[in-house]
Amino acid sequence: MAGQPRIVIVGAGFAGLACAKALGSSPARVTVIDRNNYHLFVPLLYQVATAALSPADIAEPIRKILRRHRNIDVRLGTVETVDWAAQTVHLADGSALPYDKLVLATGSRYNYFGHSEWEALAPGLKTIGNARVLRSRLLRSFELAEREPDPLRQQALMTSVIVGGGPTGVEMAGAIAELARYTLVRDFRRIDPASARIVLVEAGPRILGTFPESLSTYARARLERMGVDIRCGQVVEEIGADFVRIEGAVTRAGAIIWAAGIQASDAGRWLAVDVDRIGRVPVRADLSVEGRDGVYVLGDSALLIDPATDRPLPGLAQVAKQQGRHLGTALARQIAQGTPVPPFRFQDRGNTAIIGRNAAVFDFGKRRLKGWPAWILWAIVHVYLLVGFDKRLQVSLQWLWRYLTYQRGARLITNDPDLR
Ligand SMILES: Cc1cc2nc3c(=O)[nH]c(=O)nc-3n(C[C@H](O)[C@H](O)[C@H](O)COP(=O)(O)OP(=O)(O)OC[C@H]3O[C@@H](n4cnc5c(N)ncnc54)[C@H](O)[C@@H]3O)c2cc1C
Repeated sequence: MAGQPRIVIVGAGFAGLACAKALGSSPARVTVIDRNNYHLFVPLLYQVATAALSPADIAEPIRKILRRHRNIDVRLGTVETVDWAAQTVHLADGSALPYDKLVLATGSRYNYFGHSEWEALAPGLKTIGNARVLRSRLLRSFELAEREPDPLRQQALMTSVIVGGGPTGVEMAGAIAELARYTLVRDFRRIDPASARIVLVEAGPRILGTFPESLSTYARARLERMGVDIRCGQVVEEIGADFVRIEGAVTRAGAIIWAAGIQASDAGRWLAVDVDRIGRVPVRADLSVEGRDGVYVLGDSALLIDPATDRPLPGLAQVAKQQGRHLGTALARQIAQGTPVPPFRFQDRGNTAIIGRNAAVFDFGKRRLKGWPAWILWAIVHVYLLVGFDKRLQVSLQWLWRYLTYQRGARLITNDPDLR
């Protein structure tokens, strides 16, 4: 393999993994670096946080996924910076890796809009660690409520506040309502989990603001039927250990969840380039970075204006995956035939959010779907997108079991270090 170009891919999320797979068996030495040894299917994390699935159901070892590609080396490590002039990637363990082509696909994290101190009090849902902490907080607050004699404190413990009414906030609100009303309701003696309060706060005028208004109205009506208290046009002013202050009024809560806006990874800082408001690196149509030879940025970390809409491509798994596949295929062709990377074109496969049992929304642009048909389609698409046949089977069987019995198997309170 000596003499073959060295391609380093940082991040084995949707973009990085698709890029690596497309480069599999090409005449290049590919190294995939990730701080975790697994690829995480982030869209189903909310089901881990609400005890419907276990972490292992939605995570697959990167080595296993890429094992049949002999030209790909997998490395566990955290990248700290890039010396783009010397074409070298530097890792936290002090090691350095030279590259001919560098693909940065390091994703995003939650944006706390200047209130980093809120992160520990109101975790977002980005990692398995976040999901485990949220699951433990949710379940533990019901346990504490069960032994709490004071009715006011009891009600506060059974209150969850979700900040942000995008797809993640809506999914969490629906899932917590179902956990309380259908599953926990049968297991407690002193409290009535069906009376749990779920507050969904959204600063914008409506929930699911990126969806057509009709779907957003449907989602609101469905959530309200499930007992969710939706507060649109209201801003969170303060978060404390057990309370949220919204427009001057304090709501006491056992669990507070952050689902409001994302912030790109540090790729822009590593490359010392100008970034947009949320830290995304502007990329050219071929996904390369101007002035940084051989460097490409993909997925949530990249800012690419879609010529079809004249707007930035959204932070979605389907965008990241398509970009990764496009770049990997084009780089493999470039190595073999010397052709340039063609411009990337996004194929919109539709946008979706699940609200609860038998209720979801799907937006395909001209066509829209809601209710039971959208819910079935949501389930099929998500199972199909999971990596590996065994995961698809496991998740399908668990969903079927849960649908029939209302049970949730993963109701564990674990002693994670972040659990206060
Ligand atoms: C709760 C939630 C639900 C979502 N639901 C949907 C959905 O239903 N549909 C949809 O299309 N999109 C959904 N999204 C958005 C989607 O998950 C992202 O757009 C997608 O993950 C972006 O892919 P990516 O490859 O850019 O980054 P990621 O998938 O986040 O991958 C980034 C990878 O980089 C690694 N990494 C980061 N920094 C470093 C470093 N310094 N060193 C080494 N490795 C590093 C990480 O460990 C990770 O593996 C959801 C997002 C969230 C948070």
